[in-house]
Amino acid sequence: MSIPTSVLEELLHALPLLRTQIYFKSSLTALSHAMEDQVLAGVEPALVIACFQRERFYRQEAHRYRRISNKTDQVYVLAAPETEFQNSSQIQEAIAFEPDDGLAKEWHLVVLAPNYSTCLVCREKEVVPVKASDLPSMDQSRRFEGIWTFDRQVSSIVARLLLERVRVYRPELEEKIEQAIATYRLRETDKALEAAARFQDVDPGPFVQRLVTYLQAGQHKLVKTYRSMAAQERRERLVNSITTAIRQSLNPADIFQVAVRELGGALDVCRCLIYRCKATDQEAAIAYEFLGRSVKSLTGEVWPLQENPLFQEVVASGERVAVENIRTDTRITGSKRLMTLVQEWEIESWLMVPVLYQNQLVGMVELHHCGCECREWDAEELAMVEAIATQVGVATLQAEAYANLEDLNEQLAALDRTRSNLIAITGHELRTPLSTIQVCLESLASDPDMPPELRQVMLSTALDDAERMRTLVQDFLTLSRLESGRVEWNTEVLPLHECLSLAISSVRTRANSEAGALPTLTLEVPEDLPLVRADGEWLVEVLSKLIDNACKFTPSGGKVTILAQPRGDRELEVKVADTGRGISSDRLETVFDRFYQEEGALRRSTGGTGLGLAICRQIVTGWGGQIWAKSGGKDCGSQFHFTIPIATDSTSEVTPNPRSKSKSSKGDRSSGSSRNRRTPIR
Ligand code: ADP
Repeated sequence: MSIPTSVLEELLHALPLLRTQIYFKSSLTALSHAMEDQVLAGVEPALVIACFQRERFYRQEAHRYRRISNKTDQVYVLAAPETEFQNSSQIQEAIAFEPDDGLAKEWHLVVLAPNYSTCLVCREKEVVPVKASDLPSMDQSRRFEGIWTFDRQVSSIVARLLLERVRVYRPELEEKIEQAIATYRLRETDKALEAAARFQDVDPGPFVQRLVTYLQAGQHKLVKTYRSMAAQERRERLVNSITTAIRQSLNPADIFQVAVRELGGALDVCRCLIYRCKATDQEAAIAYEFLGRSVKSLTGEVWPLQENPLFQEVVASGERVAVENIRTDTRITGSKRLMTLVQEWEIESWLMVPVLYQNQLVGMVELHHCGCECREWDAEELAMVEAIATQVGVATLQAEAYANLEDLNEQLAALDRTRSNLIAITGHELRTPLSTIQVCLESLASDPDMPPELRQVMLSTALDDAERMRTLVQDFLTLSRLESGRVEWNTEVLPLHECLSLAISSVRTRANSEAGALPTLTLEVPEDLPLVRADGEWLVEVLSKLIDNACKFTPSGGKVTILAQPRGDRELEVKVADTGRGISSDRLETVFDRFYQEEGALRRSTGGTGLGLAICRQIVTGWGGQIWAKSGGKDCGSQFHFTIPIATDSTSEVTPNPRSKSKSSKGDRSSGSSRNRRTPIR
């Protein structure tokens, strides 16, 4: 059974002079409770009719209505059922109406006692639908339109209207309803009612008290809401300022600087620190700090981490650690190290909030309160620090990713330069000899009558250029293998002399074949040099390339000297010095770059690939040594130095000539020249 009409409208129809008013839900709750308390505080039994829009609203008040029902047997509760609410006649009359009943939109309460009356008749105002996220706060802003009054006439009419409805829903209550009408004189005229009412006897105490309590509670809620809104605003402003700083800079130093300053200032702490750290770091260097009072600065200090149980706790839990009072916190009092730290840095309250990225510790935000009073870290402050720590984490990694990207870009650009260089040099190096070979072979093929001497010249030119191409390809492959780490190292214990002999003889062989005059080669190598530990073939390669260069860039009247001596007791230093064209001071490092040649790749006169020194550096660093160049400048000669580890194990077996495995060089070993302290070779 459902009645679509509105009780409020029926009342306004009966008393057209009544003026309605708007009530917020919280006001209606306060008024209803005050009216109910009046019944509970009263002596004489009252007629109480309460109409709830839904069962759930009644459930919140059920306990109170049970108490009311103990005071009077005329209690009627109406509601739209949701779970268990149904028509029943227990200590009170429960009347269930359909959800589409007009009452489902209304909120009524009538109290009629012999000496006073009050009623509340309201209908909920339609509201514009709101976003689901706004709903909880919107409940308080639900609004109702209607009448609240002590007027006996109005209250009697409302009671009658509601009892008429009860009669329709629950016809079996006819007798009880008639009894209520008679007891509370609901059919009498207004005048008679007024005369009967003894308002002056009413004790308004409980009513007023209840209203005041509600007013206070409302005020309290308001203040709380205001406070949390203010805190929220502060937090948002802080996070915004840090986000802005982050947007303006991709430099982690700027980000840390702004974050530490803003956070420290906003929380008014004595000391705020932000530093980078990993879970396994022993300590952190403090570079970003905010000092709020005259406390000692930690900037530049090394801050212990592994020795700090609080740090360990943060690492283990991945969550913040807050110490409000260092004197009573057993984590501090139980650790000697922490006691020293808090004393030295005058810390009274301590907060550590991890900066995490994908659950990995990347940094820490620390707040210290110093002096003699400790500080409670409230929930809002903690939320704020955590919000900032999250921002800092994201920003730092963003900045790092950007820096890595820049690095990568630089590497790519360098790679691109190398590639272009490679194309230029191979283009030149390969094309030139190829064209020569082609011309020579074509001439030989097309001119069978060519004189034998010219034929010989043609053939040897073609062969020379083929050799040049072979060297370039070989050097390039060697360097690629070394750079990619695809080289197998056969480390052995060797006498340096052996390798020197091999290198010199290979240079001499090459010089003889090229019919070029070599400068004077001199060895200044002590006889009792300790043995070295290296891959013999690679060692010969380095020596050959350095001696070859020295000869190449020194005129035939000049001198090339090879020296070797121990440097400390772990390594030997070998020097190849010449009196040739020298190297300008700003090129001493560049000469080791791939394809570096003083004249530039396309204007070389001396031959070579520009890869020799790059190969030497790869080999020397491969055995853990160093290689470097010195020169007095143009035409003042050059010196190339490199180091090689001494074989410390005296029982090590000396490996015979390193190339004897692959190439027959026994003759060179026994030449004896390398045993001399100062031996001119040519
Ligand atoms: P290249 O095959 O051109 O000799 P390297 O890598 O061995 O290639 O040397 C690179 C460049 O370093 C040479 O082209 C030359 O300009 C310079 N250089 C090397 N050794 C010497 C030296 N002993 N004296 C003067 N310049 C040298």
